[in-house]
Amino acid sequence: MSSSARVTGAPELDASILSLPFRPLPEGDATCTISPIINSFVTLQEPIVLYPSPNPQASFRAPSFVFHIVHKPTGKSLLYDLGIRWDFETAFSEDYVKVLHDLWHTKIVDDVGKILEKGGVDPAKVHALLHEHWDHTGYIAPFTTAELVGGPQTFAAEANLSEQVKASGKTPRIVDFSGPSIQPVGAFERAFDYFGDGSLWLIHTPGHTQDHMSALVRVSSAPDAQWVLVGGDTAHHPCLLCTHANHAQYQLKATFRNPLAEADAPEVKMHFDADLARDSIKRTKRMEAEDNIMCVMAHEYGYWKYWRGNEEVMFPGLGLSEWKKRGLKGTRVYDVTEYEE
Ligand SMILES: [Zn+2]
Ligand SMILES: [Zn+2]
Repeated sequence: MSSSARVTGAPELDASILSLPFRPLPEGDATCTISPIINSFVTLQEPIVLYPSPNPQASFRAPSFVFHIVHKPTGKSLLYDLGIRWDFETAFSEDYVKVLHDLWHTKIVDDVGKILEKGGVDPAKVHALLHEHWDHTGYIAPFTTAELVGGPQTFAAEANLSEQVKASGKTPRIVDFSGPSIQPVGAFERAFDYFGDGSLWLIHTPGHTQDHMSALVRVSSAPDAQWVLVGGDTAHHPCLLCTHANHAQYQLKATFRNPLAEADAPEVKMHFDADLARDSIKRTKRMEAEDNIMCVMAHEYGYWKYWRGNEEVMFPGLGLSEWKKRGLKGTRVYDVTEYEE
């Protein structure tokens, strides 16, 4: 289409999302860079992550994204999520490893610590923000002097992480989202200003887990302020965050039946509290509706397709800075033909 062509059929936005309260994001000069890392892949079956599922036999390959964030004023660096631990085959029980292979088709690319080193970053000094599930805790041993940050339940809920933390001798930093330093930001009620300059907000997005956190990063300042919101497991299918009215029907799936289990096996819970998780999705969608906010979740097959092999986008490249000018914010429209197995 030429630039002078008239744009027709522009999608109608979901009015119920636009009517949610939204506070203008805080202005300020401090910014961060943020760049994606892929250390592992999983396969997600559509009916497990999307309801209604238009193609219940379909599944898609997706990374478990890790994001490297650098605070420009101080040079401090953090990771949002740590991917899948490279040694999962020996670290977990035989039965669990079988599920990770047979159901999720788990594959490791490399250890996150090694990827950082190859990119010129010392993992010992990188702080980590995470949630407790097996595809996000990574392998924390290389982060020797780092601060581990999460909610009160993050480091207690699952043995994989709690045992790793114990072995490291670390005391995690707990963010209390009901404490006095918590403020509203954008469409969210509870956020913590991590550096105290408005450049990185840890946001309580509970539901998937009790203490699930997203991170809102200012990548450029006014007059062209741009933000990236990384949301981990807030949503497991990209179209759950599509702001078009004809996508309003799509919801998360609260429970699923493991297709490899016995026929009479009970359904498995995917979320700690499905109603809270729906609320966090709604608020994240409200953020996505802003034209200066780009949301990226952990298992975005679409962004993986756009970004793979792009050294400018992927760590240790430029990352998602100037994403508007570079046209990096993609569509979230449902399209089964985009899936790769
Ligand atoms: Zn999770
Ligand atoms: Zn996940």
